[in-house]
Amino acid sequence: KTRILTGITTSGTPHLGNYVGAIRPAVAASRADDAESFYFLADLHSLIKAQDPARTQRSTLEIAAAWLACGLDPERVWFYRQSDVPEITELTWLLTCVAAKGILNRAHAYKAAVDRNRAEGEDDDAGVNAGLFMYPVLMAADILLFNADRVPVGRDQVQHIEMARDFGQRFNHIYGGEYFRLPEAAIEESVATLPGLDGRKMSKSYDNTIPLFAPRATLRKLVASIVTDSRAPGEPKDADASNVFQLYQAFASDEETAAMRRAFAQGIAWGEAKQQLFERIDAEVAPLRERYETLMARPQDIERLLRDGARRLRAQHATPLLRELREAVGLRDLS
Ligand code: ATP
Repeated sequence: KTRILTGITTSGTPHLGNYVGAIRPAVAASRADDAESFYFLADLHSLIKAQDPARTQRSTLEIAAAWLACGLDPERVWFYRQSDVPEITELTWLLTCVAAKGILNRAHAYKAAVDRNRAEGEDDDAGVNAGLFMYPVLMAADILLFNADRVPVGRDQVQHIEMARDFGQRFNHIYGGEYFRLPEAAIEESVATLPGLDGRKMSKSYDNTIPLFAPRATLRKLVASIVTDSRAPGEPKDADASNVFQLYQAFASDEETAAMRRAFAQGIAWGEAKQQLFERIDAEVAPLRERYETLMARPQDIERLLRDGARRLRAQHATPLLRELREAVGLRDLS
């Protein structure tokens, strides 16, 4: 079976981008018989940016409930919280000690922080925590611990998968064994990157998101606030340059999308285009929203599910592999 792994960082409320880019395709893929899926709440990753305990806890619950409301079946897939599997952090250290620092210097997230600092005339590493620098190693541990073969990611994450391959390969080479299968990055060409309210990528870190389960009235208001150009009704509009159109496309059938493209060319008013967008999103999300609210009312059930998931996962995958790795590097056998 192909092992597929997807995580969502618990750094805020799940949004339409997370749904279209990760949750919807992942739940669809998990229904295939030849797949074994690993879905996790990346709470250790969230500490790099979000150092607010209440927010991390709330986000963990919301993202877990979102996965479940969208149809993830915890009987069929591995569903867990990253910090419930301490083997991930232990493996992170083993990989840290084979990872070349020079490779980490080139990681996009770290380089972007350095570039920002340089642009502002600051020291390269001002305000950068070592967690941001080490992030690719933690991600490699997420992947290699479960020997995931396929990791569906956006283009910006491909580099991290390559690093995971590199660290896994080095470990195999240094300790002379096939301890890790090397993962492939699966770039989902068909999966769109959704723009946020301000036109940049929709992201929890940019605070420009439309929450997946915003109440209907809030959803309408947020859709109405998406930035557009100032073309008046009747003036032809460029569908491909429009955030409203890109969002519409992610929720509409091919025919509906083609019709909307024509309407843009004919100069549909922004208010009308946004109303149609709101209706499409709401039609898809409304039934899920109801399930989400039911789930959120019973946090103890979600908690139990996550703990059970982690317990089984550790017993079946994580603990046996770590035992082998500890022996490989010369540490004491804990069993
Ligand atoms: P953060 O800003 O905290 O990094 P994020 O909202 O950008 O968070 P992640 O938690 O890093 O999202 O990503 C979880 C998953 O959601 C990933 O698979 C990612 O590709 C997907 N995703 C995030 N934002 C978008 C978006 N705007 N469009 C499509 N997919 C997205």
